[in-house]
Amino acid sequence: MALYVHKYGGTSMGSVERIKNVARRVAKWRNAGHQVIVVPSAMSGETNRLLGLAREIQKDPDPRELDMLASTGEQASVALLSMALQDLGVAARSYTGWQVPIRTDSSHTKARIKSIDDARVRQDLDAGKVVIITGFQGVDEDNNITTLGRGGSDTSAVAVAAALSAKECLIYTDVDGVYTTDPRVVPEAQRLGVVSFEEMLEMASLGSKVLQIRSVEFAGKYRLPVRVLSSLTDPLISLDDEARSGTLITFEEDEKMETAVVSGIAFSRDEAKLTLVAVPDKPGIAYQILGPIAAANIDVDVIVQNQSIAGTTDFSFTVNRVEFKRAMDVLQNTVLPAVGAREIVSDESVCKVSIVGIGMRSHVGIASLMFETLAQEGINIQMISTSEIKTSVIIQDKYMELAVRALHKAFGLDQYQASNASS
Ligand code: ASP
Ligand code: MG
Repeated sequence: MALYVHKYGGTSMGSVERIKNVARRVAKWRNAGHQVIVVPSAMSGETNRLLGLAREIQKDPDPRELDMLASTGEQASVALLSMALQDLGVAARSYTGWQVPIRTDSSHTKARIKSIDDARVRQDLDAGKVVIITGFQGVDEDNNITTLGRGGSDTSAVAVAAALSAKECLIYTDVDGVYTTDPRVVPEAQRLGVVSFEEMLEMASLGSKVLQIRSVEFAGKYRLPVRVLSSLTDPLISLDDEARSGTLITFEEDEKMETAVVSGIAFSRDEAKLTLVAVPDKPGIAYQILGPIAAANIDVDVIVQNQSIAGTTDFSFTVNRVEFKRAMDVLQNTVLPAVGAREIVSDESVCKVSIVGIGMRSHVGIASLMFETLAQEGINIQMISTSEIKTSVIIQDKYMELAVRALHKAFGLDQYQASNASS
């Protein structure tokens, strides 16, 4: 017998029939003798519906009231799931974030979890109940309801699992695991049986949208095993098969891990590039350019500064495309007058493609195979950035699919076998 946390996304909770299926699946785990905590999302579409209503009433909705509103989606789904379990004869009890309580800071709409009180939950578990806790929300010091940002239920589930030292956090979703790349772009993409926590962290931050990145950070901090698996299988399939399915995010980088050097190709189209041409090459310039950008709360991603020729250099960086206009304003109005560059050039049609793999640590020539592959496709690399376990390139976005497909093939991921699956 062990304690498991199950997380179900909006699609899995999307209708009465699906909620009943979630209940059947949870009942199977409970009846096998395990303790189960369930953290569901709101029914699919519900959070969007609520946020839409808010915007119809207030152009720029008050963040505190927005959290009051958005948190109700999850309150409805926990109650419905509890009823569905009771209907199957399984004792169950639902709680909102503030009832547990899940304490957060006060940054409405993007709050961070600070602590979780496990007393009430433990009591119910010990009494044989399934405990159902709302995802996505918590309560601040002054008892205001907060939410954790879109997709935040993943983080709620992992945090609850960490707080109660669960054996594993199972994230049930509408895909059956983490793939070598997005199967919509590369039909040959393969499911990974195991992926290391560090690879998952890179993939989540590089645009693979399977898990909210903060949930991966949480899992890392507490070394909590997380498994991503399908909620669309028959809920009554054998528990053993289910417990081994999907993708296990693990901390054990031992011989059991896959031998593939590159585990995945991540990409994101939402990039924009800004370049200051011919800025003076002297101390303080990077700060004078990026200081005001940071002060405007804009995240900078890839940064490149060239060797100076005749005392000036070109300085380029990328930002998320939605922040492009604001970044451009800062450069034009604040930076340009202060540093005296010749001009600003920009490109809103770039994308980022990355190869990720812990094997890159111990193998040479991985980046050069990436560059060779792109060269063979005639794709120009505009910027490069690397870390120990990834290499990213900025290229024109019209070549994104081509680049991803070519790299997927070049690194042998088309044939990758998820065989030595997780256990
Ligand atoms: N319901 C919230 C959202 O749609 C939280 C979640 O689903 O994880 O973003
Ligand atoms: Mg999600």
